[in-house]
Amino acid sequence: MSNVLVTGGAGYVGGHICKALSGAGHTPVVFDNFCRGHREFVRWGPLVEANISDKSALIAAMADHNIEAVIHCAALAYVAESQERPMDYYETNVIGSVNVLEAMRESGVPCLVFSSTCAVYGIPASVPVDEAAEYAPISPYGRTKWIVETMMTECARAYGMKCISLRYFNAAGADPDGEIGEWHDPETHLIPIVLNAAADSTFLLSINGTDYETPDGTAIRDYIHVTDLADAHVRAFEFAKTSSGHNVFNLGTGHGASVRDVIGAVENVTDRKVNFVKAARRECDPDCLVANAQKAEDVLGWKPQYPDIETIVAHAWAYFSRQK
Ligand code: UDP
Repeated sequence: MSNVLVTGGAGYVGGHICKALSGAGHTPVVFDNFCRGHREFVRWGPLVEANISDKSALIAAMADHNIEAVIHCAALAYVAESQERPMDYYETNVIGSVNVLEAMRESGVPCLVFSSTCAVYGIPASVPVDEAAEYAPISPYGRTKWIVETMMTECARAYGMKCISLRYFNAAGADPDGEIGEWHDPETHLIPIVLNAAADSTFLLSINGTDYETPDGTAIRDYIHVTDLADAHVRAFEFAKTSSGHNVFNLGTGHGASVRDVIGAVENVTDRKVNFVKAARRECDPDCLVANAQKAEDVLGWKPQYPDIETIVAHAWAYFSRQK
């Protein structure tokens, strides 16, 4: 059983990863500065309260906790915000990751699992998207993740590090036991916003774009349950120990849901009406992003347990209702 440093372990995805690591018998050591994370999500192991801008704090955490691997989730992760404040994204996501990689090299920690994103593909030429699709990020956010992946390839080649990038499609849902869930401030993600519209009849959801090249005109995404994502990290970390080089995996269900499909799922699950207005497209939003995650199944033995959008919404609603 291993001690694993989880940067951003107090965040939405990081918190679920810590729970999954603990369930598999490992000890997650959370490294988080709470700029976006929540103290309530640190439940499954020790906390190091520090910033990834501080390489010496990373080195000290690795030594103090006898760390064998790092799962690196700490990042800024809003596409729109990255357009407005690109240099904050390069500083946190790129320079922060330089510090993580350098601290690992100096500490002799070989295994890294990185939170990457389907945003590295930009507007893919075809869907479902597999890992051979071209890198073509269209936002500063996507470009920062692509740069980190490139650095990981170099570190694997030059220093023998064992690197895995997990390219998430749309993380969604909440812990089925209800211990943690999706909680962002500000909230920009579709499912919690639609749940808010279901809970509050005065709240109007804006559908961002109704003129996409999709059957109902709204954008299609591949919503992947956060507990399934967390399970993939545990498998990736175990695979990394005996792997070499830099391996990348898409994580998604292989099925898309449009914004209107999500509204329908929320109305079914909650038995309430969602009021909406049609609004303009957001910048950098592709029509359709759906994963081909066959490689994760073949190599990691990973298959989503909760692929159905109504189950994802039901778990999110259970958590959302408890917070209100
Ligand atoms: N979306 C929307 N209204 C909202 C928030 C999101 O129509 O208030 C749309 C968004 O344009 C995208 C999809 O929902 O097509 C998923 O957006 P989200 O921000 O959840 O994830 P992203 O795909 O940007 O990572």
